[in-house]
Amino acid sequence: MTLPQPSPATQPLLGATEIRRLAEEIGVRPTKTLGQNFVIDGNTIRRIVAAAKVDPAETVLEVGPGLGSLTLGLLDAAARVVAVEIDPVLAAKLPSTVQAFRPDQAANLDVVLSDAMRVTELPAVPTALVANLPYNVAVPVVLHLLEHFPSLNHGLVMVQDEVADRMVAGPGSKTYGVPSVKGAWYSQMRKAGVIGMNVFWPAPKISSGLVEFTRREPPVTRASRQEVFAVIDAAFAQRRKTLRAALAGWAGGAAEAEKYLRIAGVDPSARGEVIDVHAFARIAEAKIPLVA
Ligand code: SAM
Repeated sequence: MTLPQPSPATQPLLGATEIRRLAEEIGVRPTKTLGQNFVIDGNTIRRIVAAAKVDPAETVLEVGPGLGSLTLGLLDAAARVVAVEIDPVLAAKLPSTVQAFRPDQAANLDVVLSDAMRVTELPAVPTALVANLPYNVAVPVVLHLLEHFPSLNHGLVMVQDEVADRMVAGPGSKTYGVPSVKGAWYSQMRKAGVIGMNVFWPAPKISSGLVEFTRREPPVTRASRQEVFAVIDAAFAQRRKTLRAALAGWAGGAAEAEKYLRIAGVDPSARGEVIDVHAFARIAEAKIPLVA
C-alpha cells in the first residue's frame, strides 16, 4: 500500500529552532551589510509562495536563499529552483539543508555562488523571480535581473515596506521616483501585502512589503533603454525642479530641454514626479535626430 504524499502545506518548513541550529552549525552570524534577516515562520513562507502564483512547471530564480527558508517552500511549488547566494558559507550549506528537509526535491535545486547584481548566466532558464531580497540592494537587483533575464515574466519580491511603496507608485504620488519609473519600463508592479518584523531572525527595525510584478513590453520608442533611463535619472536628481531646469544638463541647455519637452508633448514647467514612463521615453526620443 502506498502512503499518501504530504501536501505542500504540511511539508516541514524552517522555524526559529531550525534556523538558529543551522546558523550555529556553520558559524553564521547574520550581517547587516548583506541584509541577512532570515524568515523563521512557515506561515509567512506559505503566504509568499501563494502570492507568487508559481506554476508547478516553472523554474524559479531565488536571490539570497540564506539558510533555505523560502527555498523549501519554492521547491514544493515549482519544478526547479535556481538560488543565487553571495555568501559562500550559506551557498555551501544549502544543498545539505535541502537534502535533509526535501530529499525528493534535492535534485531540483541549483545553487549559484554569485552577486545577483552581476550575474548574467544561470544553469536553467527562470520564468519567475521569488525572493526575500537583501534590503540595501533590492531595487538594483530587481532591475539588473529584469534587464538580463528576459525569460523572467513574473515574480514576487519582499523588500523594505517603504521601498515596496516606491516600486509600485504611480505618477503624482509622493513616493513616485526612479525605482517606480524604471520598474515600469519592464513590468507592471503591484503591492501584495505587508509583513511584520517578528517573522525574521534577527528582526529588522521596519516592516517589509511584498511586490508582485508581471513583465510587459517596454514603451515603443526609437530611444534605447539607456537613453530613457538617463532622462529619468536627470529628472529625479533634482525632483523639486521643473523638467525644463532639471533636464538642462542632459539636453545641453534649458532652451534645448524645453524644445525636447514640447516635441514630446510634456509641459516644460511640470516636474518629473508627475509623468509616466511613456512620457520619459518620448522625451528621450525627441533628442534623437530623425535619419532621412
Ligand atoms: N531567503 C532567506 C530567507 O528568507 O530567510 C534569506 C533572505 S536575507 C533577507 C537576504 C539574503 O541575500 C542573505 O542570504 C544574503 O547573504 C543574500 N545576499 C545579500 N546580498 C546579495 C547579493 N548581492 N547577491 C546574492 N545574494 C545576496
